Amino acid sequence: MSDSEKPKLAIYWAASCGGCEIAFVNLHEKILDVDAAFDFMFCPCLLDTKKKDIEALQDGAIAVTLFNGALRTEENLEMAHLMRRKSKIMVAFGSCAKGGCIPSLANFTGSDEMLKTIYIDNPSLDNPMNIIPSGVTSFAGGEISLPGLLGRVKHLAEEVEVDYFVPGCPPESDQIWNVIEKILSGDLPPKGGTIGCGNLTVCDDCDRIKEEKRITAFRRSYEFYPDTRACLLEQGLICMGIATRSGCGAPCTRANMPCSGCYGSPDGVSDQGAKMVAALGSIMDIGDTSGLSESAIALRVEEFLQTIPDYAGLFYKYTLAGSTLGGRVGGSR
Ligand code: SF4
Ligand code: SF4
Repeated sequence: MSDSEKPKLAIYWAASCGGCEIAFVNLHEKILDVDAAFDFMFCPCLLDTKKKDIEALQDGAIAVTLFNGALRTEENLEMAHLMRRKSKIMVAFGSCAKGGCIPSLANFTGSDEMLKTIYIDNPSLDNPMNIIPSGVTSFAGGEISLPGLLGRVKHLAEEVEVDYFVPGCPPESDQIWNVIEKILSGDLPPKGGTIGCGNLTVCDDCDRIKEEKRITAFRRSYEFYPDTRACLLEQGLICMGIATRSGCGAPCTRANMPCSGCYGSPDGVSDQGAKMVAALGSIMDIGDTSGLSESAIALRVEEFLQTIPDYAGLFYKYTLAGSTLGGRVGGSR
């Protein structure tokens, strides 16, 4: 089949790290099957197709766009709308597009404070003139412009209609292949569904021995070498498996590291961070509280929680923009 007869496939990145593209390339020889099935025609880090080539297409001419990355800049917004208009199926691909992921942690402070942290307060940066990149910079040879930052990082569905969501930071390659197969066969759930994953939690996929969960102190990975067979959460490591959608095969816990939650909320859970906090609240053992006043009990809980260094980064690393919190709004958009 010639390229012109095949359905068109696009992969676009917005505010992302490139990990989703690497996971896609990790399809290895199955890339050839993708190429046989699709006219893979747009992917800025792999192909030289230009934006004007996309603009020249008829609306709906692209069969599928896998859109990864959060929306941080005016350019991200423009491309989200362009790709939506040109695509029959728009997929929020990976945790940044699905829930804002790590870029959206900046929502707690807003873009001005983020730029200050990066360009002024950064201890590893030598910036004696306190230069912060701005919209337009003039120089002897002309001027260069940068897309403006939004006041708040968004996830894709806040801006355009999304047909399907694929979780993961990045999505596991075998699950990417499952997504491709589902699209090719038409075996897709109703619009708005989550594909390339399971319906349970990472705990259900994790083969560690689970016993009674009672934690007397939180610990961090660098502090000890965890038992390789017992549940990591029961050993005091904050493993997010209990509040995270299955489908990855639990590679992190198999490598003796706690799940950090990159597959996001399981079915029926609207806020992954809140779910995890609730779960921890039910298993924290603060000792015998009989005879203690309410304030003394609160103090014990506070002391227990002080061993967690970064609540937001721990509980909302992958989902902040789509969570109940959303982050403090630092701008007007
Ligand atoms: Fe496995 Fe973590 Fe769940 Fe324990 S909490 S069973 S280590 S995924
Ligand atoms: Fe992501 Fe958790 Fe799976 Fe690791 S175990 S890949 S952090 S969902």
